[in-house]
Amino acid sequence: MQERLPGLVGLDAGNPGPLTGAGNHTWLLTGDVPTLIDAGVGAPAHLDAIAAALDAVGQTLRQVVLTHAHSDHASGSVALAARWPDAVFLKWPWPDADRRYPVEWTPLANGQVMAAGDVELEVLHTPGHAPDHICLWHAGSSTLFGGDLLIEGSTVVVPGTRGGDLIAYLESLARVAAREPRQVLPAHGPVIDDPIGLIERYSARRASREREVLAAITRGADSIDSIVTAVYPTITGPLRMVAVETVHAHVNKLRTERCVEDDDGHLRVVTTA
Ligand SMILES: [Zn+2]
Repeated sequence: MQERLPGLVGLDAGNPGPLTGAGNHTWLLTGDVPTLIDAGVGAPAHLDAIAAALDAVGQTLRQVVLTHAHSDHASGSVALAARWPDAVFLKWPWPDADRRYPVEWTPLANGQVMAAGDVELEVLHTPGHAPDHICLWHAGSSTLFGGDLLIEGSTVVVPGTRGGDLIAYLESLARVAAREPRQVLPAHGPVIDDPIGLIERYSARRASREREVLAAITRGADSIDSIVTAVYPTITGPLRMVAVETVHAHVNKLRTERCVEDDDGHLRVVTTA
């Protein structure tokens, strides 16, 4: 019999946009240690919704945990600290973010078990989308608070020039799959009821994208820009920036694996004799 997560309230952060879709989800666990997972952006309606959910059970916010410090997950920390000055703020240690969002941060460690609501959650360091990305694992219900690790109906951007690491991302997916999660509560999109199936689809898509990148280089695309044009021929506007970051991530992986090399500014496939 699957244990349910008690005291769980999903609260939208109120920040829809081209890169956040319908906006971020944050997750409140009421109980002994009222805990908010991800801070949102400090939208007044989000803060009021958190307050209303806590008031309904006569509690106050005790801690805020970030899945990672991208602004749509982290920038609301300052407003939350102003409204709940006694709350503790926790995230993976990452100096850039500490400076950008000036609250007093408590660092998390991989494998650390923390009280949240009425349950215990394990911190899983899951870099790839961002170096400081964590997920939170509730063993009793096999539920994962997934941050930006998985998004149903979309891909997760691995920004190759901005801290993204495709090798680390694929390893993070494999480590999460090994836990056999039954449900993932993401920061974007619907709740994921078949995480293993989604991880398999993600891995297959990355592998096919990698074959396309290699094929483009083989056919003579020797720069990030020319690979983007070959692999994403119709993409324009802000989404082209996403494609550029994705191709950077693929090329970084292929270079690390010595499948591709940089020959005086020109990318080429490594051929073995
Ligand atoms: Zn993110």
